Amino acid sequence: MIVELILTYIILLALIFFRYIIVSGGFYLLFFVIKGDHFKTRRISTKLRKPHQARKEIWNSFWSSVIFAIGGTVLIYMWKNGHTRIYDDPMEYGVAYLLLSGLVVLLIHETYYYWIHRWMHNPKVYKLVHRMHHDSIVTSPWTSFSFDPPETVIQAIFVPAMVFLMPLHYGVVMTLLILMTISATINHLDVEIFPRNFNRHPIGRWLIGATHHSLHHSEFVTNYGLYFTFWDKWMGTESKVFDKRYDEVTS
Ligand SMILES: [Zn+2]
Ligand SMILES: [Zn+2]
Repeated sequence: MIVELILTYIILLALIFFRYIIVSGGFYLLFFVIKGDHFKTRRISTKLRKPHQARKEIWNSFWSSVIFAIGGTVLIYMWKNGHTRIYDDPMEYGVAYLLLSGLVVLLIHETYYYWIHRWMHNPKVYKLVHRMHHDSIVTSPWTSFSFDPPETVIQAIFVPAMVFLMPLHYGVVMTLLILMTISATINHLDVEIFPRNFNRHPIGRWLIGATHHSLHHSEFVTNYGLYFTFWDKWMGTESKVFDKRYDEVTS
């Protein structure tokens, strides 16, 4: 069993790290190299990135992968031994549950992250838990998985905890993991990819994108959200210049 666990861990570590390299590298290639000129006017930050910043972010992300792979190994071990509430038959709880369960997990994740993120900005906590992520004042796709190890643990326990709390189809779990990766990469892109006036669209105004999260890295005490803007709007922590900056970048 020990050999099987070690093998599972090594495979997961490789999958998690190469997922990061391929997704972040793909976004970087597309928006900064292949279509770099086309998206130049959509760049959000006016400052330059620090020297060797990408190298540091990739190194931090490797250590994030080391920690996430531990969570993944525990999850797979528990699943195989029937200790989680992951189910195989998509019809077991009906189609409505299948679709709604994914949305509910996203809303719980948003709430979990928003409040923990505000706690991580407490100066005493910040130095130990969240400083490395903010080393990147100007973000890039490489920033998306660059965290201090304690923050990585806080993030890595979320999905394994959810599959103990509520029934989730394994397809929903996989879809959530893909959505989390894509959303984190888009939010750190430093290039606004959503259309003009999306910040005023009935759906778009509730979604976080690159401009919204870039302002978190530059202003530091605004825009704490992960996927959605509702907690920032309700708690008055949304950046006062968000709409103005969004309009400038997309004009
Ligand atoms: Zn932060
Ligand atoms: Zn960030």
